Amino acid sequence: MPYKTIGIIGGGQLGRMMCLAAKAMGYYVAVLDPTPNCPCGQVADTEITANYNDMEAVKKLAELSDVITYEFENIDYDALTYLENHAYLPQGSDVLKVTQHRYREKSAIKNMGIPVTDFFLINGAESLKEHFFYPSVLKTTTGGYDGKGQLVIKTKEDFDSAKKMAEKHECILEKRVPFDREISVITARSTNGEISVFPIPENIHVNNILHQSIVPARISGDLRDKAVNYACKITETLNVIGVLAIEMFVAGDDIYINELAPRPHNSGHYTIDACVTSQFEQHIRAVCGLPLGDTGLHSPVVMVNILGDHMDSNEMSRLDPYLPLLSNGKLHLYGKADAKEKRKMGHVTMLGDIDSSLRIIDQSNIWVRPES
Ligand code: AMP
Repeated sequence: MPYKTIGIIGGGQLGRMMCLAAKAMGYYVAVLDPTPNCPCGQVADTEITANYNDMEAVKKLAELSDVITYEFENIDYDALTYLENHAYLPQGSDVLKVTQHRYREKSAIKNMGIPVTDFFLINGAESLKEHFFYPSVLKTTTGGYDGKGQLVIKTKEDFDSAKKMAEKHECILEKRVPFDREISVITARSTNGEISVFPIPENIHVNNILHQSIVPARISGDLRDKAVNYACKITETLNVIGVLAIEMFVAGDDIYINELAPRPHNSGHYTIDACVTSQFEQHIRAVCGLPLGDTGLHSPVVMVNILGDHMDSNEMSRLDPYLPLLSNGKLHLYGKADAKEKRKMGHVTMLGDIDSSLRIIDQSNIWVRPES
């Protein structure tokens, strides 16, 4: 209930936006993150600065918090076990164990009878030799994000670099899907079993990092129904509590699940400005056992990420490049100090007609789109 304390593991932008939603609802927030003055720490009531595997810090978070949630997936196993036994972690650890490992994740989805691309577990050079094919993508089973830990294999010449990667890391080798579009379905399931689904964004990546989400996705009603059915089945089968983002490839009339994230997701940032309830508020409602909110869309919307590449480190407070966007747009900045390349610094949501928003975004000098 409000006036109680929510503990968040991870204090990046997702933690910050969760915290802002929780504060608006009257909760107190404590956050654990290794970086002092992290994006969430700037808006939380209590900031614990320590590594995620620092058990004293984990215990402190547990003591302060009535309910604990997380903004990222790679929580240390011992910390998770401690929290499950000594605190209230409604999301549990089962889903994380699946989503922390790409092979386990794809196998679980396949076992539900839901399509995923062909994939093989690769442990070492010999198993790569046995399964090698192209076009394909080699991905580390753990720890990868935003295209890190991935190698696109286009020809047999790529075998040597693939071998180097397979010798160092356990991987999965996936068939490359010739997709028409990428979409994601964001669901939420509360502690009382209620499920809600957000309008589907169409996601455009540049250099493997999300660049733009366009909502509603430009797909047929049949595809939308299929995507929502798959998403609800995955959410229920995995007994998810909180928000789950399900990334999908659309190829013709088929949909393949790419990956899961058991937390609010970058492609759902549009919900803050364009939906009755945001993904962050929904997540807080879900883990706190409140009724879920209406996910209706107020307006079509385009969300564009602002990466470090799009900002000048020396003049980060300069607003002028954004001014032309602001009449129908909302600027969100995450309070990060250094505008490093590829680092997510903020986003803009442009409300109203999608074609006009895309035109205004294209005309601004902020997003010079690199070759994908
Ligand atoms: P991931 O980290 O798995 O989300 O991959 C990042 C991005 O790489 C995806 O959003 C796709 O654009 C691309 N990608 C990953 N796996 C595949 C695949 N099997 N086929 C085609 N594109 C892929």
